[in-house]
Amino acid sequence: MCGIVGYIGKRQASEVILKGLQRLEYRGYDSAGFAILDDDMKILKIKGKVDELVKKDKEEMTEGHLGIGHTRWATHGEPSEINAHPHVGASGKFALVHNGIIENYNVLRKDLEKKGHKFTGETDTEVLAHLIEEIHDMSDIDFFQAVQQALGQVKGTYGIAVVHKYTPDRIIIARKGSPLLIGIGEDEYFVASDASPIIEYTKKVVYLEDEEMAVVTRDGYEVSTLKNITLTKEVHELAMNLEQIEKGGYPHFMLKEIFEQGGTIADCMRGRLMVAENRIQLGGLEGVVDKIINARRVVIAACGTSWHAGLVGEYLFEYLAHMPVEVEYASEFRYREQLVDERDVMIVISQSGETADTLAALREAKRNGAMVIGICNVVGSTIARETDAGVYTHAGPEIGVASTKAFTAQVTVLTMMAMLFGRQNKTLSDELMQELVQELKTIPEKVEEMLRNTDEIKNIARLFTYASHFLYLGRSYSFPVALEGALKLKEISYIHAEGYPAAEMKHGPIALIDEHMPVVVIAATDHTNEKMINNIEEVRARRGRIISISSDGQSDVDRLAEFSINIPEVHDCLTPLLSCIPLQLLSYYIAVNRKCHVDQPRNLAKSVTVE
Ligand code: GLU
Repeated sequence: MCGIVGYIGKRQASEVILKGLQRLEYRGYDSAGFAILDDDMKILKIKGKVDELVKKDKEEMTEGHLGIGHTRWATHGEPSEINAHPHVGASGKFALVHNGIIENYNVLRKDLEKKGHKFTGETDTEVLAHLIEEIHDMSDIDFFQAVQQALGQVKGTYGIAVVHKYTPDRIIIARKGSPLLIGIGEDEYFVASDASPIIEYTKKVVYLEDEEMAVVTRDGYEVSTLKNITLTKEVHELAMNLEQIEKGGYPHFMLKEIFEQGGTIADCMRGRLMVAENRIQLGGLEGVVDKIINARRVVIAACGTSWHAGLVGEYLFEYLAHMPVEVEYASEFRYREQLVDERDVMIVISQSGETADTLAALREAKRNGAMVIGICNVVGSTIARETDAGVYTHAGPEIGVASTKAFTAQVTVLTMMAMLFGRQNKTLSDELMQELVQELKTIPEKVEEMLRNTDEIKNIARLFTYASHFLYLGRSYSFPVALEGALKLKEISYIHAEGYPAAEMKHGPIALIDEHMPVVVIAATDHTNEKMINNIEEVRARRGRIISISSDGQSDVDRLAEFSINIPEVHDCLTPLLSCIPLQLLSYYIAVNRKCHVDQPRNLAKSVTVE
């Protein structure tokens, strides 16, 4: 969560920082601020969006060529100007921006209060600013050493950038659990929590690993461990471009990303789906496929939308490769009795590759000897680096907080994995492989076809804009899609929505159904169709308002539903790639009608780097 951007060089730092914070705003957006060093140190902070900070900066006209900025996603202390970053110590000499949580902040705060420090806000971060100052002032050490020693006393996670009024030629950064990188320009350097704010200036970056620090000056950077061992870091070339992180004429990133899905699914399959040879090739899994198919079981660990993709993966692995799979919430997995060991394989799924709970599950599984495979979108992310092998989703930057194209790309990767494993362990027949390869190839154009006419979805969205609740039902492959559809609606329209396996409805949720309850029935999977029709009848008998997502030609479903949206016909196991799309659009149009902030829904942030 939260965005950090810092600059040192020849440009006006406030311009780079404000633009950077706007690009980072999807990571947190309850308040923002920056510190600029010139002859003096100037700090501007606001509650609310970065636009407010831009306005304030126009009035104040901050000048200077070195600075750090932050857009916050509050963990400790309400969103307010006081709690916004940067934070300073008692004398205001040091300014600090922070992503993460200082877990022992209370103990440190009490100790500092005894020494006379007075705190202005409630954040954990402010304590670290005071601690750096206290250590610096009480001993004969420099700025870098003070930060280093302070971090030695901290428990928790951090990505930090610190500046010192009396050493106005450097930014000190450090990382443990929250991502940070250095951008290398010509006589200018950038620091940031992801690449989006620096992409227009440079493509050369150095990623900091956990427990690493760096001094960044106008002339270069030096990276060392927290224990002072100097490191030589590899310089990476960023693959993303500016166009990918702009709206390109769409009113929202989310809509742009929904409409990109034909292309992103195709990108995800490029060079992997070998149509002529009737096979799947996943370079990232070379050398580990046998170990995976021979594992005692596969544990998929993920959070949120990625967890839903994992559930689709479970059905796919079982059906196509006859492999036993368990899908776990990463946050629960890590605190359970650890029964995973070297006989198991874990697959972790995360769009950002920085999801704190997923990263913790990965580390736990590795510690117990399991091999861990990653499915990530962000190249070079922590999860991508720490896993033993993996497959990138290649969906391009996803900026909308509610995930869309990342989900379909994750499901595409899982489908290809299941096909590869099924062939390797000989459970997937030649005929079915052929059928699936041919059908998978057509998915991008089927997605494009669906997106060409969205009138009926807009119509349904208009009619149900002010519904208070929604129920989503599905069986088999459509069950995780139901969960994902409900999550999308909750996230961006704030309507209460629940997803259920359709048969579970009669064990409780059916009590909620009356003439005011919209029930979205995902009836796209053929082999459960008859049972699904029974469930639809059950909803109808209670006067629920049925919106069905069905395959072309499922006239029984269409006849029973009040509204129906058709998706092109594909093999059952590929339907999630299509059936999720009308649900993404339905939530999008409802949220727009309700005048919700689609790309930055309240209380959420894109990359969940706190546990
Ligand atoms: N824990 C800090 C706070 O609440 C940082 C949160 C963030 O990562 O934005 O201010």
